[in-house]
Formats: sequence, structure tokens, C-alpha cells
Amino acid sequence: MVAAAVAAMLAVQAQSGFYASQIAQAATLALMAVSLDIVWGHGGIVSLGQTVPFGVAAYLTARLSIAAPSLALPIIALGVVSGALLGLLMGIVLLRRRRSAMTIALFTMMLSLLAEQLAAKLLVIGGFNGLGGLPALRLGPLELSSRHRDLLIVGVCAATVMAVWSLSRRPFGVLLVGVRDSEQRMAASGYHTILIKVMALAVAGAVAGLGGSLYAMQTGFVFPGIFGFGFIADTLLWTLIGGFGSLAGPVGATVGLSLLEEYLADAAIDYWLLLTGISFLVLVMFVEGGIASQVRRWLRMAPRTPNPVELVPAPADARAPARLRTESLSCSFGAFSAVNDINLEVAEPGVYCLIGPNGAGKTTLLDILCGFQQSTRGLVEFDGNDVTRARPWTFTRLGVGRKFQNPHLMASLTVAENVALASFAVAPRSDWMWNRAWRAQVPPAALETLAASGLDSRLSATAGELSHGEQQWLETVLALCTRPRMLLLDEPTAGLTASESSRAAEQFRAIAQNQQIPLVVVEHDTTFIREASDHITVLAGGRVVAQGTVEEIEANPRVKELYFAT
Ligand code: ADP
Ligand code: MG
Repeated sequence: MVAAAVAAMLAVQAQSGFYASQIAQAATLALMAVSLDIVWGHGGIVSLGQTVPFGVAAYLTARLSIAAPSLALPIIALGVVSGALLGLLMGIVLLRRRRSAMTIALFTMMLSLLAEQLAAKLLVIGGFNGLGGLPALRLGPLELSSRHRDLLIVGVCAATVMAVWSLSRRPFGVLLVGVRDSEQRMAASGYHTILIKVMALAVAGAVAGLGGSLYAMQTGFVFPGIFGFGFIADTLLWTLIGGFGSLAGPVGATVGLSLLEEYLADAAIDYWLLLTGISFLVLVMFVEGGIASQVRRWLRMAPRTPNPVELVPAPADARAPARLRTESLSCSFGAFSAVNDINLEVAEPGVYCLIGPNGAGKTTLLDILCGFQQSTRGLVEFDGNDVTRARPWTFTRLGVGRKFQNPHLMASLTVAENVALASFAVAPRSDWMWNRAWRAQVPPAALETLAASGLDSRLSATAGELSHGEQQWLETVLALCTRPRMLLLDEPTAGLTASESSRAAEQFRAIAQNQQIPLVVVEHDTTFIREASDHITVLAGGRVVAQGTVEEIEANPRVKELYFAT
């Protein structure tokens, strides 16, 4: 990356003014690609509105530079801040609630079209004709020649790309990838996932803002079209061709293709869009993941370079087991009542099995008990505090660990990175976020389960390539990483063989005993239930139909009837 930046600056130095200027302009566009790669490639947020921070910063820079030519640096800083604020605002409006990718794409696209219309109507910023005639770039009293201006712009853009790249390797940057892979697992690990996405939009907005400011300084001319769909479509196309999520790919493709477009401008402008369109289609059909992933394949590199992670045992801490109580807990989906009037009390360490036929409401009940589903009536109390309306990450921080029915993992990250991210979330200080070294203090219980399940020999495998059984165990390990004082496990032995299931029963008993915490386990496997459970609750049609020990439940005529009937 450094070599590429130096090469670009040498090219600017060596080229005639026109080409130097083209390179500098391409560099500012590369920041748009970086912005898109942060939100789409790393965060999976399909924003088509990254032209808004870019364009607003460009207009702000143009208008203010004309008014105060000597204040270039503060004006650029203002462009960056305006971009960050716009990103933040977009994030808060869009992401506060769960919205589909389609809604987000359409909303942000409309936003950029509106901005274009507004810019075309506002006469103070030149209206339809745009704003031109920006003065030469000045640093204090020094007026820069256009060559020095271009060198400076390429340098700043290269430094920004490298800063974003460095951030994307640190835990702070990888949090976003975690949320893209599994928002639920990240929330269950104790991360405020909405905040992470909003922060990503703010950072991406700041980068786009810097790009916009520099673009205005470089071209000396801004026009409503820089908000428009044509502009975002171009950068999106280049970013996709380069390969989302790889940073170097989108930057390289944007610089390369925008320069190529300029060079070919005279000869083939009529065919340019056709050519890029066709090459894009060919790329999508034959090269998954863009040019960057193809290059990695040629070089026999993994799709992603994992971070080296050091997992060290955290000091053991004795925490009192959690006390959970529900009162007339109910949850309806429309007219259908999935959970009905449930009174539960879990306070003593031990294994509490939750059984019942499919559709009985077991998963829904667990979801309510850790904030993934809102109850429609009733009360959830944790250690005597009302947490009925609390969010998932609050439950996690209070000490509720969750394993989902289907594995929810950060599939593109390694096992070690998964464990590290899950352990970082509950660290008392936040300096781990910015450290280049991934050194995570993992609770002993999680390390023991990692070893007992054989996952300690798979630390550098990506979670997505693990077998189903291994994924089940990794989820349990991740739940243990948050130092839970209570574990909610949804069908942990589904898909395991009889012997694996029996080993799991042993393992869970050991966790309950060693950690002195309650485990609420949804199970179907009768061997597991007999071997592991201290207490059983039978659910049917969303209601508790029986409670007691294994012997009591086996003798219960109502339960027999239920199981023979289904
Ligand atoms: P179990 O885990 O016991 O098999 P669930 O809790 O998953 O059962 O589901 C209980 C019932 O609630 C099922 O009939 C299911 O179809 C319904 N249900 C669960 N989630 C939703 C939802 N988000 N919207 C509508 N119905 C749902
Ligand atoms: Mg279920």
C-alpha cells in the first residue's frame, strides 16, 4: 500500500499538469470507494447515500473557500466533520430500528436524489450551474502551485486509506465485520450493535467528507451531479469490480478505472459505459468477490488475512448465580399467542431442562429472557430488577449467556477471533479496541470448554468452515466468554450423535457445578434429559403444563398424553 502511494505521488511529480491533476482527482474519488467499502463491504449496510456527505462537504468547501481563501485547512476539517455528522444522522434515523436492506437502499438513494435537486435549486450555491472559480489552495500565507496541491491531495488520500486499513485490522474495525456476519451473536456477546453500525456510518461519512472537500479543492468546481445517482453508480461499480471488503481492491479499481475513463475519453467515450457494464457482468458471472479475491486466489492466499490472536486465561472471579423470575409472561404474534402466562423462577445452580413439542414456544421464551423478543404482557426480573424492556446487550452485561438454536457465529472470522471478540465485550476497559495486538483475556470456563470440545486445535479455522457439531460448541464457548451467571441454551445437542450428546450432558453438568450457575437448556434428547437435568419444565401451546424432577415428569399422565398425542 505504501509502495502504491509512493508510486502515485511519483507519477504526479513526473506527469504533465493534466495527468497529475487526473491522478489527484482519482485519489479523491478513491475515498468515496473507501467510504462505500466501510459501510457495504465491512458493515453490510447497503447505503446508496454516501454521495451526500461527499457532496455536502464539497459544496461547503467551495462556498467557504470563495469567501475565505486563506482558511483552507479549517475548511477541509469542517468538511470532514460535516461528513461525520451526516453519517451519524443517517445512522440514527435509519438504524435505530430494524429495517430491511431494501428500505435502507431506497431511503439513501432518495436522500442523494433529494440533495441533487436541492443543490440545483439553491441559488446561493450556484443552482443548476454549480459553483466554480475556487481560488488556489493556500496553506496559511503560502499559495500552492497546482502540482504541489495535487501532490498534497494524493498524499492525504493515501494516508487516509492506510489509516482506515489499519483501523480495519484492529478489534474496533473487526467489530463491524462481526455485526455484518451475525448481529445476533454480537448483541448476545454484549455489544451495542446499533451503536457499532451508527459509528461505521459516521466514520464512512467522515472519509467521504474528506474526499468531497479535497475533490472541490482539486477540481475547483462543484455541481449538483456530484450528489446524483450517476456518480454513486460509478463508484459502486468500481468498488464492486475491485472487490467489496478488501479496501485495496476498491481503491485500486477506482483509481485505475477512473483514470482509464479519462484516457479513453476521446476515443471511446460512447462505448465506455457499455464496456464497463459488460466487464462488470462478466466479472459477476465468473469472478466472485471482484478482482481482489481473484488476485488472492492466484497468490494462493485465504480470502482474508486473519489477525494473530493471543488467548490468555482471565483471572477467575466468583460471581453469585443470577436470579431470574418471570410473572405472567406472554408474547403474541398478531392473534397467535406463542407464550402464554408463564411464571418461572430460576435461582439455584443446576440444569433446568425446558421441553415440549415443536412450536411449544421454547425458543420464543428464551428470546424474551435475553431481550431478543419483546413480551406483550408480564414481567421479567433479574436479581430483583425489572428488565422486561431491556435490550440484548444489557441482558448479556447483567450476566445472561445465550446459545441459539441455529448457530450464530462470526462466520468469516477465525475461531480465535470469535473467542477474542466475545471476551473483549465484557472487558472493564476499552483500550483493547485500538490495540494492534489481539490479546484477549478469556474466562477459564470458556477455555476449558474450548479444550474439551477439541476446538482448541481449530483456532485458526474460520467459524464458517467448522462442522455443525463444532459450531454448536463454539457457540457455547462464546456464551461462556461473557462470564455468564446464567446460561440459556437452545437445543445444544441437535445434530449430535448419541455419544456426543452424552458427552455434552457431562460437559453441561460440569459447567453448572464448577461455575455454580443455572443452565436453562431446551432439549429433545431423552438420554440427555435423564443424564443432565435437575429440574424439568414442560411447555405446550405456550403454557407450562408440568414442572418437577425427571421421575415426577415421567410419571405425569398429562405429559405422557402430550408426547403420545404428538
Ligand atoms: P419451539 O422453539 O418450542 O419449537 P418457537 O418458540 O420457535 O417454538 O415458536 C412458537 C410458535 O410461535 C410457533 O408456532 C412459531 O411459528 C411462532 N412464532 C415464533 N416466532 C414468530 C414470529 N416472529 N412471528 C410469528 N410467529 C412466530
Ligand atoms: Mg425452538
